[in-house]
Amino acid sequence: MPPRSRYAVDPSLTAQGGQGTQPNYQQPQQAEYQQGHQQANLQTGYDQQQQQQYNGAPTQQPSGPYDSTAPRERSYAVHRPEPAVQPNVQSMHPSLVQPMNHIPPPPHSSGPSISGPRVRIDPSQVPNPVEAQEMDQNLYDEEDFLSCQTKGVIPLAGTDYRGVDQGNSLPRHLRVTLPVAPSNSQLLDTTALPFGVIVQPFAQLRYDEAPIPLVSNWVSGQSAFDQPQIQDAEEEGPPRCEKCRGYINPFVRFVDGGRRWGCNLCGQTNEVHPTYYSSISPSGHRLDHSDRPELLHGTVDFPVPKMYWAVQPASDDTATGDGPDIAAATASLTSAASDMLGGLTASLGQTPAVTRGNSPAPGFKEKEKERLKAEARLRRPVPISRVFVLDVSDGAVKRGVLRYVCEGIRRGLYGTKRKSEGDSEDGEEEEGIGAGERVAIITVAESVGFWNLSAGSSGPSLMVVSDLEDMFVPLRDGFLVDPVESRSQIEGLLNMLPDMMERQSDGGRCAIGAAIKGALAGLRRLGGQITFFLTSLPLVGPGKLTSRDDPTVYNTDKERALFTAADPFWRNTADEIANAGVGVNTFLFPDQYTDVASVGALSAATGGDVFFHPRFEPVRDRDTLFDEIRRSLTTELVYNATMRVRCSNNLRVGEHYGDFHQRSLTDLEFGTIGESAAIGAVIKYEGKLDEKDLCYVQVAVLYTSIGGERRVRVLNTSMGVTGLVGNVFRFSDLDASVTLYAKEAVSLMPSKQLKDIRKMLTDRCNRVLLMYRRHCAGATQQGQLILPETFKLLPLYTLCLLKSKPLKGGTVTSDVRSHYMRRLRSYGVVSTMTLLYPRLLAIHDLTDDVGFPAGPMGRLKMPSFMRASYGWMVAEGAYLMTNGETAMIWLGGAVSPQVIDDLWGVDNPEELDTRMTRLPKLPTLLSTQIRNLLAHFERIMGHPLPLLIIRQNMDGMELEYANHLVEDSNNDALSYTDYLMTSHKSITNEMSGGGGKGDSWRPW
Ligand SMILES: [Zn+2]
Repeated sequence: MPPRSRYAVDPSLTAQGGQGTQPNYQQPQQAEYQQGHQQANLQTGYDQQQQQQYNGAPTQQPSGPYDSTAPRERSYAVHRPEPAVQPNVQSMHPSLVQPMNHIPPPPHSSGPSISGPRVRIDPSQVPNPVEAQEMDQNLYDEEDFLSCQTKGVIPLAGTDYRGVDQGNSLPRHLRVTLPVAPSNSQLLDTTALPFGVIVQPFAQLRYDEAPIPLVSNWVSGQSAFDQPQIQDAEEEGPPRCEKCRGYINPFVRFVDGGRRWGCNLCGQTNEVHPTYYSSISPSGHRLDHSDRPELLHGTVDFPVPKMYWAVQPASDDTATGDGPDIAAATASLTSAASDMLGGLTASLGQTPAVTRGNSPAPGFKEKEKERLKAEARLRRPVPISRVFVLDVSDGAVKRGVLRYVCEGIRRGLYGTKRKSEGDSEDGEEEEGIGAGERVAIITVAESVGFWNLSAGSSGPSLMVVSDLEDMFVPLRDGFLVDPVESRSQIEGLLNMLPDMMERQSDGGRCAIGAAIKGALAGLRRLGGQITFFLTSLPLVGPGKLTSRDDPTVYNTDKERALFTAADPFWRNTADEIANAGVGVNTFLFPDQYTDVASVGALSAATGGDVFFHPRFEPVRDRDTLFDEIRRSLTTELVYNATMRVRCSNNLRVGEHYGDFHQRSLTDLEFGTIGESAAIGAVIKYEGKLDEKDLCYVQVAVLYTSIGGERRVRVLNTSMGVTGLVGNVFRFSDLDASVTLYAKEAVSLMPSKQLKDIRKMLTDRCNRVLLMYRRHCAGATQQGQLILPETFKLLPLYTLCLLKSKPLKGGTVTSDVRSHYMRRLRSYGVVSTMTLLYPRLLAIHDLTDDVGFPAGPMGRLKMPSFMRASYGWMVAEGAYLMTNGETAMIWLGGAVSPQVIDDLWGVDNPEELDTRMTRLPKLPTLLSTQIRNLLAHFERIMGHPLPLLIIRQNMDGMELEYANHLVEDSNNDALSYTDYLMTSHKSITNEMSGGGGKGDSWRPW
């Protein structure tokens, strides 16, 4: 199959849509510069305006007592309510300077504030992520991130860097919360910091990073990338430790002249296989060291021999029909149901003729059973098979969902051109499904229909199973088909289905549970992917649900029950699907409660994605839907995967957090793992670590590639060891820690009340600050809040977690909470941090060079980001924000019409169609800049960002926008400065003995 690009994010951004190419940022054409000059004039106007405003401010130096003698900590003065001293704005970072005419948050969005007497903290004096982010980015603008020469600094989540894997996996794949580990568990407890890893094994590489090596040859002296010539070596697979089964990696030591190697994980000395032997140079390296990627890189792929193939799942009742008697099952194949095709008329024109399905011959299921039993117990890896399950109930048809789903699948499989519009040999072939992959289509309403899409047939035909409790695939051939060979059948079906269902209703309810069982029956021996589209609560068939959402239980102890599956069918089926090596993608289009907690359990246990389109509105949502379907078919994906995290001696893995099925304490099963899927694992101590040594984490993921290769991906990282509490803090990684906190917190939602989880998060934050204060900070004045430099933003990010959709106070529907609970549980560090603290920037005063590549690395020139607060926004402004899921442009009530004209080509805000989710391609400088910036964010996030338009005091979505401004008081929680104040109070109390020596704190 053609290699699938794992670097190119979106073909439209890359020069040839190929691997390793630079994003193709647009340049305005000649004619555009005139527009650009207008824009520049406009900007000058803004500059002057701001200048005057700044000049009006006093110009004294800030009085904040920055402690220059303690570089690893900063103290933030707490001001008594006396006149705030204005800093010298000329020399300060924009994130510190609040405009005088900034706007207040809209009244409907505000949250509580501290009551009673209070001291005031100046917002410009508190740590802010924007400044930290900018400083971090500066480190990597002209230099690579070298994974073994980090100098103790890991790029922040928001930093765009080119990484070089020198033996430690890149942080985008494997990130440790404490890159310098405490030497024992008491020391860890003293810091109160979390210890664990975030693993995102298939995270997209940057376009200019070296691809992950695929090492296939274990014969010394031959190229590591060749097919092995010796049968033995082929069967051998990668060298592994006899004791702990760890894989060979850059940190093993070759001893005994190269005949043996010492395992860095468990210490065992292993024999080197004779074919793999190489002698040792005086430096202690193998002579072939520089030719062996597995000894050079932290992240490596190995093809593996037959003994690594997946074992077929033991229970096979659905596929082979053990259970109710076969005659009944056969009878349940109603040929009558194919009458629904009768309504089809010749007026459908180009769609192929539809033939009636026949009932299978008697004994069909017995023969099928024998055939399946005859197959080997081991599963031969094959290119992925994908089953689409389409909701064709009345609601899905009437609301237009089915029509756009069909169109989305068609585009996903074959690109935007229709076959009738000429051949695709014009060099514009779009990214499509890979060679050898197979697809099947099931339709479901009150019965389940299996479509025969055989290439040889004159058209698609339908076989209906109406006994919902006993599902099997009633087709021997023609169910899973090659989408290229069967293109006319598949396109024909997708084209005619919406009209057909309009004429011939199969009822208003959807038996999605039965259809999923049917899809599983088709994939049980193969593994693969099920993608289902559901419009309403499943009211019929196995796993049928009732509307249990009840706002009166919100914020009570009963609420947590809403975050687990209502019917055990969903959890059990999910486990069954995961065991079969199948991942489930869920597309939901609810117009009311659909029980995301139950239905979403399928994706939660199998590693698939959930896409949520409440109140689907075609004009607004269809492009996003098309993108999502296309991406689910074309991005890097593996299936039938098992993951294990190993640690070196005296460490072990505790809890795992993420979307998977945990079959044993150590092994995590995934139906599919995509680019964005990440897990968290907590590391525990079993003994003391040697401060002179490093300690290690190795993650191994055994998987089948989308093209049908069985492989293992191994990721490695080493950590330093320290006995000093200060060093643990000094090198700690806040972004990885917050991601781990988030995963732990949302994983508690089914078992703990939300208010308790929120309290625990705050307690944890305060505990870390208290421990730092107690053990690392020198004698300081009582009134000062001392924060560890690496964790100075912990209070802010903790507050962001308290304001996140799954955890925040106030009324949030259980569907929304469940959906975002899953998001945070499976998100990696970049997605988590962007969701918690959005990226916000002003677009009304961009300089001309912003949004175009600059500098030796060709990085896009970015403007300064802004802090997420109305306190930095003005009504004359326009702002672009992204939380990694969507982008929003907020237009102030007094924004220049020129901005609107440049971006959308209309004169005033009233004329904007807020259902648009893309910027039109206008030949203006501003339009080009913003589209380039959006393309940049989309590359970083790895998926398209629908763009929403929000006009001040006009659009209801402004509340959503306001909720993202997490430094303000909103989302039923305090403002950042107030929250910091409460932290400070709590720590001061503890320090003065008010709360005893940590007695009031309980670990969770
Ligand atoms: Zn070992």
